[in-house]
Amino acid sequence: MECLEGHSITPACARSELDLKVIIMSRNKAKTKKTKVIENLYLYEFIDEDAILPDTITVMVQGSRALLIDTAYPEYAEHVKKDLEEQGISVEIIILSHYHSDHVSGCAVFTPCEIYAGEHFEHSYNNCRIWEPGYTYVKPQHLIKDGDSLSFGDFELEFLYAPGHSPCGVITKITERIVHIGDLIMMSKNNRAVLPFIADGGNFAGHIQSLELLKKIEPEIVVVPHGGRIENKENIEKEIEDRIYYLEQTSSAMGTLPLPACLKENISAYDHLEFHDTNLTRLF
Ligand SMILES: [Zn+2]
Ligand SMILES: [Zn+2]
Repeated sequence: MECLEGHSITPACARSELDLKVIIMSRNKAKTKKTKVIENLYLYEFIDEDAILPDTITVMVQGSRALLIDTAYPEYAEHVKKDLEEQGISVEIIILSHYHSDHVSGCAVFTPCEIYAGEHFEHSYNNCRIWEPGYTYVKPQHLIKDGDSLSFGDFELEFLYAPGHSPCGVITKITERIVHIGDLIMMSKNNRAVLPFIADGGNFAGHIQSLELLKKIEPEIVVVPHGGRIENKENIEKEIEDRIYYLEQTSSAMGTLPLPACLKENISAYDHLEFHDTNLTRLF
């Protein structure tokens, strides 16, 4: 596992033994990778050269039933639906980590099914409909509150309110050691750290608190919708501290520090530095 050195996310070379297949999708040329994390828990990762970030759909299976966390875009959702249908599996439940189009626009592919989202989803839902009207947006029938739980066969999911990136962020504890964290931490197509992004309705203080909450959980695996997953406590803690550092430096100086001074590592270690400009507008 020497290829793990210096990397905060498991590189492709270390994951290959778990990879079930790699398919080139003809429709949008996204590379698709399906990975088994533990029994009955799979990640479908989509890497499109033209997309800003990689996307992940998380799938839990119990017999002929599936529960998804996030649906990404309709093209990716269609791919997951087809793969599950070929195994005689249908999607019954969708959990939305937050209501941004890159996480929810695939919902329409699976309806009718039971959709759960954070109780403060409405603000982002309205933004999606205005800013990216080309998709069909489905409203959740079930609103998630902090501390709620949901049984799905052998899985006992627990939800924690985690605002900051968006006003409706939800952390899902899949097991005691595996946690889905929405966009609190993002990784790029090159497995590099992506700068935090404070979307409309999000805020610095909430983002920092949500990362502190995640740190207390001490997960061994975090599932990140952009980047697949980050493994082992040390790597995860490093990524959390890295994001908290940026958010605290930027907000405490009210944006007066140059970006390199807000970063824990050298600026060359980060992707999507352009997010900083948007983040600064959230300070005021
Ligand atoms: Zn987002
Ligand atoms: Zn996202």
